Amino acid sequence: MTEKTTHVVVLGAGYAGLMAAMRLANKTDSRAVAITLVNATETFNERVRNHQLIGGQPLPERPLAQILAKTRIRFQHGTVRALQPGRQTVIVQTGPDETVELRYDDLIYALGSHVDVGSTPGAREHAYTLDERSAAALAPLLPDLAARGGRVLLVGAGNTGVEVSTELAERFPDLRITVATRRSFATNLSDGAQRHIRKAFSRLGIALIENAEVTRLDEGQAMTAAGPIPFDVCIWVGGFAVSDLARSAGIRVNMRGQILVDRALRSLSHPDIYAAGDAAMPADNPGTPIRMSLYAAGPMGAHVADTLAAQFRGRQPSPFGLSYIAQGLSLGRRDGVLQFLDGSSDTATRFMITGRIANWFREFFVGFLLLTIRLQRTMPWVFSWPGKNKMRGLAWTERSTHEAAHADG
Ligand SMILES: Cc1cc2nc3c(=O)[nH]c(=O)nc-3n(C[C@H](O)[C@H](O)[C@H](O)COP(=O)(O)OP(=O)(O)OC[C@H]3O[C@@H](n4cnc5c(N)ncnc54)[C@H](O)[C@@H]3O)c2cc1C
Repeated sequence: MTEKTTHVVVLGAGYAGLMAAMRLANKTDSRAVAITLVNATETFNERVRNHQLIGGQPLPERPLAQILAKTRIRFQHGTVRALQPGRQTVIVQTGPDETVELRYDDLIYALGSHVDVGSTPGAREHAYTLDERSAAALAPLLPDLAARGGRVLLVGAGNTGVEVSTELAERFPDLRITVATRRSFATNLSDGAQRHIRKAFSRLGIALIENAEVTRLDEGQAMTAAGPIPFDVCIWVGGFAVSDLARSAGIRVNMRGQILVDRALRSLSHPDIYAAGDAAMPADNPGTPIRMSLYAAGPMGAHVADTLAAQFRGRQPSPFGLSYIAQGLSLGRRDGVLQFLDGSSDTATRFMITGRIANWFREFFVGFLLLTIRLQRTMPWVFSWPGKNKMRGLAWTERSTHEAAHADG
């Protein structure tokens, strides 16, 4: 008797999708489960290093074919254009006039996020972003701009704005760099960490304009209530947004468009769809607020794989849990901040490390996660995460009335 093969299609080969595909391939039987991984590019983009790309530092090429070698994962290069949950298919554009239709029994949605340039008029037309293509297009322009003492304006001073501005200022001391932010600056960090970053800004000659909301971007200037800020190059770092594909397909999403998932990371509206990484949001508290981050994407990708592997074996999945320990910010290549966090609230504690060692910790974590993704091929147990078991004992599907009522917020 031949058993039916289950087709799992994974959308997105970022940290979450790649982790999910690699782990699932190891944890399931090749005769019972076929896995297809779809991605818009043929290389893995280490998104957390895109600011280094802008700074002109060549990043190692990471062909997905090489990462997936010796696994049974089939790679489909192409851009996902539509989901048809009723027919259990996705439409993938594979060439200028070519599409393929992929059928699935289970779908893992891990399409990540992109820099949000849709919320402010002119941002899409007049600003570069940290998305891979835009970062690569900007990189060759900066040496010339620096040579003539050009002005770079960064809009946004969250962690990413801090990382990009310091990277550029260190790499191109002749650039005149201004960071404009809607609110105060680095408010998610402790006072000590904020002080350290302010010192780094003044050492690197970065001008900081706080409480200045950019309401429109025109060619060469950003409009704020206090007047225009002129620039030669503008880099938009104001927050991430997700694709509209899930919402358009009728999958239940929150206001940002992230797929709402239960404790097993399974869609609240479509039980054959799972989601992980920036494109997903647990409807039930997993023990800490989830923010779009590499820190959460890896564990979510791994958990989706564990959920599916358990279900294929006829076992109950376990509920997803997470605790934050610390977050690392680079301030150029020689300085950084490692901010320790309260595991359950994701808020800054007063403990932190600064300087080269903090930079090294961030590098180590980023490199370690990629290494553990590669190692999923043979040793899935090398990857675990803080708070993995903290929700154990809770039902993975049932939801409290209170949580259900607040899920869409
Ligand atoms: C400069 C920078 C620095 C950062 N630093 C940190 C940090 O220090 N710590 C931290 O925790 N987080 C950091 N982040 C955030 C982190 O990069 C993201 O949260 C993380 O990459 C999310 O992982 P993901 O797998 O969900 O999505 P992504 O990494 O965005 O991967 C999504 C994948 O899906 C593919 N894709 C998207 N749409 C389609 C489509 N329609 N069809 C086919 N493929 C598609 C993309 O090509 C990509 O490969 C940083 C981000 C940036 C930009």
